[in-house]
Amino acid sequence: MRIFTGFCFLIFLITIGSWQYGLAQETSSSLKGKTICIDPGHGGTAATDSYRVGPAGEREEWINLRVGLELKQLLQNSGAHVVMTRKKDVRVPLSERARMAVEYQADAFVSIHHNAIADSTVNFPIVYFHGNASENRAGVKLGQLLIESISEKMYRDPTPASLASDHVIFPEAGTAVLRGTYGIPAVLVEASFFTNPAEEQRLKDSTYNRREAQAYLEALESFFAADIPPIHKTDSKVQVKPFRVFQEAERMNPAARQWKSNFVKGHRLYQKGDSLSLQKAMDFFTTSARSFPDSWLARTAHRFRAKIFEAWEKKKQQQQAETSVAEYYVPLPQNDVFLNKLIKLNSVP
Ligand SMILES: [Zn+2]
Repeated sequence: MRIFTGFCFLIFLITIGSWQYGLAQETSSSLKGKTICIDPGHGGTAATDSYRVGPAGEREEWINLRVGLELKQLLQNSGAHVVMTRKKDVRVPLSERARMAVEYQADAFVSIHHNAIADSTVNFPIVYFHGNASENRAGVKLGQLLIESISEKMYRDPTPASLASDHVIFPEAGTAVLRGTYGIPAVLVEASFFTNPAEEQRLKDSTYNRREAQAYLEALESFFAADIPPIHKTDSKVQVKPFRVFQEAERMNPAARQWKSNFVKGHRLYQKGDSLSLQKAMDFFTTSARSFPDSWLARTAHRFRAKIFEAWEKKKQQQQAETSVAEYYVPLPQNDVFLNKLIKLNSVP
């Protein structure tokens, strides 16, 4: 009897314990009480914009909104307050989107986008932060977490990725929404490419949209579970000279299709090492970085440009290219495998 009572008491303890544990799990999300501003990119441009549309007619602004609304639900379930910059397929000015995040004192701002490029085989995630990596450390950290969770949730096989400053695509001032929210941990995310036909089909599926939203949720949860790194005043330390790049619709230009082959040609010529080859290599690296400035190879293209400037003893340009590599492109270990494979496949025997 005594053993039986003891046994019953033990079961009672386990029941209470697991009940409390379950309860604790439900309320212990690091997102509880946080205000997250979700910005589904673009909207209301079906009649005027023929660039942000996939080969089968799916529009970026529709995908962004579906993912945004899924994320809203997931965040609210975790106890977060959500501010949406738009809830419908309507046009909202960029300054208005940033203003909402500031006004509601958001703890984080995520701008949801999907990407386009003339090369339809391309599909990998890109995350942008505003300004310089050494200054916007919270943006970089949130970006790293997002690259991790998106790569895991949306890509069946290992994928290369880019974590870059928004100055890489808009050299003079960066993107309006990230510039306008600077001081709040903020990123602009292009989780995948709707110009890739298979990816466009997946993006039309609401289950896949929810999985993408889940990736955002997990990254935000990890971000708030640890200490948040500082965001220093922008341009307080480092100035990087603007590097002209293809923008928006220009990215659909046939030259953009050569981004990878131009890199490969540049690398071959660089290996030859004579002065004429170095001159040509510089042109190829520059063209690759200009036509697809946020590609997963762009950081390496700029590194080679810095090395060639060094060989030419052009100290100022070398320093400029090195600063751009250090401040605008965050190294991602997952890219090394892809880079080594590409180089090995294409090197001169
Ligand atoms: Zn977009």
